Amino acid sequence: MALPSPEACFARVVVDVPMAQPLDYRMSLSTGRPGNACLVPVGRRRHVGLIVDVVPGSEVEPGRLKDVMAVVAEVEPLNRHWLDFTQFAADYYQHPWGEVAIAALPPIMRSAPGPRFAQSIARIRKRVVTSAPATDTARRLTAEQHGAVGTLAGARGFGVFLLFGITGSGKTEVYLRAIEDRLRAAPMGQVLLLVPEINLTPQLEALLRLRFGDLGVVALHSGLADGERSAAWLAAHEGRARIVVGTRLAVFASLPSLALVVVDEEHDPSYKAGEGVRYSARDLAIKRAQMLGIPVVLGSATPSLESWAAAQAGRYQVLRLTQRATDDAAELPTVELVDLRAPEGKAASGIAAPVADALRATLERREQSLVFLNRRGYAPVVACDACGWLSRCPQCSAFSVFHKPDRTLRCHHCGFKDRVPAACPTCGNQALQGVGHGTQRIEERLRELMPTARVMRIDRDSTRRRHAAEQAFDAVHAGDVDVLVGTQMIAKGHDFQRVALVVVLSPDGQLASHDFRAPERLFSTLVQVAGRAGRGGHASRVLLQTRFPSHPLFAALARHDYAAFADAQLAERRAAGMPPYTHQALLTAEARTMEAALAFLGDARERAPEVESIRMFDPVPMALQKLAGVERAQLLVEADRRAPLQAFLRSWLAELRSRRARVRWQIEVDPQEI
Ligand code: ADP
Ligand code: ZN
Ligand code: ZN
Repeated sequence: MALPSPEACFARVVVDVPMAQPLDYRMSLSTGRPGNACLVPVGRRRHVGLIVDVVPGSEVEPGRLKDVMAVVAEVEPLNRHWLDFTQFAADYYQHPWGEVAIAALPPIMRSAPGPRFAQSIARIRKRVVTSAPATDTARRLTAEQHGAVGTLAGARGFGVFLLFGITGSGKTEVYLRAIEDRLRAAPMGQVLLLVPEINLTPQLEALLRLRFGDLGVVALHSGLADGERSAAWLAAHEGRARIVVGTRLAVFASLPSLALVVVDEEHDPSYKAGEGVRYSARDLAIKRAQMLGIPVVLGSATPSLESWAAAQAGRYQVLRLTQRATDDAAELPTVELVDLRAPEGKAASGIAAPVADALRATLERREQSLVFLNRRGYAPVVACDACGWLSRCPQCSAFSVFHKPDRTLRCHHCGFKDRVPAACPTCGNQALQGVGHGTQRIEERLRELMPTARVMRIDRDSTRRRHAAEQAFDAVHAGDVDVLVGTQMIAKGHDFQRVALVVVLSPDGQLASHDFRAPERLFSTLVQVAGRAGRGGHASRVLLQTRFPSHPLFAALARHDYAAFADAQLAERRAAGMPPYTHQALLTAEARTMEAALAFLGDARERAPEVESIRMFDPVPMALQKLAGVERAQLLVEADRRAPLQAFLRSWLAELRSRRARVRWQIEVDPQEI
């Protein structure tokens, strides 16, 4: 074999196509480096790719090698760490590297290099004014905050810190101080702050700008227009932004000088991607910190049981905040259960009498109430009393929900929308009834109960317009709202100063769920929503309507005792051999018929390599069996340790990919919903 000339080399390129290995291309050595974006031919098409390696030789036959067509010169290459990190994520979640890496780039970097690309980059680079004068200064810390900040300042190298602080204990201030200390110690350093919800980014971004405006603060989330997102990404990549606040996708931001990672509300299910590569941004944030040898802070009032177990085992260091932080030493609200079975608790209208009384009393005292119901729409189903007809989505195994403003029936799973029929489609009965309560109906009910109250509803329907949610929350903060009713959108993160009463209308549904994580999620939602009360320093109450007032979950909640709840849950999980004591992966199949989906999974199970430490369950229909006309089934795989599960999945999926399947299938590692 002839030695390659010093100028000639081979670029290993990943592209956004399902291919297990990077592809080799000819390139002259001076043209590109690892981390450069480029344009390459794949088959008959051109693809944007990323050079992940530059090597002197290739095993591909010379006749079949093609050339790199163009290399992006206007943007610095992504660094080795970023390439390694995306490769890790791809391997761990069992996806091709190219799919993960290219999808992690902002829109501009996914467009082809050329003169137009160069112009766009120049325009985008000018666009973000990242720095602004910082006007806010740090406040006096509470003793507990001081302790936490001190520990974090002393952190060297990789370490996971679980900031376990009750709602309102001032976790945000701890993050800000930790960020400040870290950036002082690492004068060029960068910080990544992850939050679960888009709605929480403007708030935090504003806070960060006030404190660190001069250092460059950008937000990264899926609600940004393409140009904004590309601009923020580039500012972080080029080090002009030292602080990035963002939702889960921001975990993949290019941060060449990353020195600290913070994951706020680390337990939040939104950190898990629901489609495509099903990654957990929380888990990846920890991995990224480990690869870089830097500290990572996980904050929560109700840590995930995974994190709690890791802390118990001594792998994470716990920093506790047990007191609320405000100057007037606000207390946590008292939690009271309203027994829906008791005569006075009957709530045909959705709101029991004692709750109605409390709402009116709060209004009279000119304090705010928050009414939480995790169900949007007017009524979850429309029924015919005469024949038993129920409104169902024609495409899903689910009811369609009555939305009153436009008199539609809507499926919350597939988006199907139809007019409410004037009469029952089966028997012609004209007196159709909405059964049960959604936020729209409760809003109506609250207006009847309190005609003078200013009632506002916040849910996905009421906030579709751009900035609608932001404006709505501003009105609440400004005191222009007496009663706020809404879904989980109102439950998380917001630092409401005037809420004195929190009402939880129907937590019972989740107690009956088959998902073993349901209690954990319910507990954390309830702690979060309860935690919106009493933040301004006044006495506050939480009223919870339930048919199961003696349920231990509610007892732990009333005592504000997360630790007891978590320990009991972990004991159950250990006894039942469930995560975090086992590791799981879920193979799902989608087909025209359930038989086909189940048959595919049955066959996949047959063809799985025999590995002793791997347990495979029977294929079963998914909880939401039919979605948008597609039948869905799942197959759960378990192992006591991650490594054998990873090895098993790799060979199993290679086998599955080698065959042409007639059903769509995908794999989810560490599934959160089963
Ligand atoms: P958490 O995130 O723990 O629920 P926040 O960070 O929202 O709590 O803080 C709750 C409230 O306490 C906020 O209004 C915040 O401004 C205030 N706060 C935080 N730290 C202090 C402090 N050291 N002194 C006074 N108020 C504080
Ligand atoms: Zn009927
Ligand atoms: Zn549907």
